[in-house]
Amino acid sequence: MVKKCQQCGGSDVRAATLDDVRVLDGQRFAAQIKGQKCGACGERYYPGGAGPSPAEAQAAAALARGGIRGPEGFKFLRRAVGLKSSELAALLNLRVETLSRWENGRAAIDRAAAAALCALAADKIAGRSDMRDRLEAMRAPPPKARGGRRVGRAAHVHL
Ligand SMILES: [Zn+2]
Repeated sequence: MVKKCQQCGGSDVRAATLDDVRVLDGQRFAAQIKGQKCGACGERYYPGGAGPSPAEAQAAAALARGGIRGPEGFKFLRRAVGLKSSELAALLNLRVETLSRWENGRAAIDRAAAAALCALAADKIAGRSDMRDRLEAMRAPPPKARGGRRVGRAAHVHL
């Protein structure tokens, strides 16, 4: 809690409901958040703390459900999922450079990769890890066939 305004030095800083807005790729997400406001100069103080703000939580849910529209949304959702670029690149079998070009808007984002990121985010919101588990499993080298006989070219296999 702020007791003295850091902007004007006034002591009339009171509890207030503030607008929490997040704009990603031109898409606006707005919510209200409890914070403080200086009665003298109008300076707003948003609550700190870990975790997404209400507008961020709203944006993450909307993008996870409706898809990513551009580089800002991609980067935002990757962070919301809690993955570093290198971690997401490894999960999606991509080069980190490719990912960073997408996030900088220098290359078109692969739609399948974007959809995979949306699924990762939807899982996180729902408290699951299905998509991540799947991607991790696919990352491991395929198991070697064991115990089976090699089937010759002339052999017939009856199923
Ligand atoms: Zn002030």
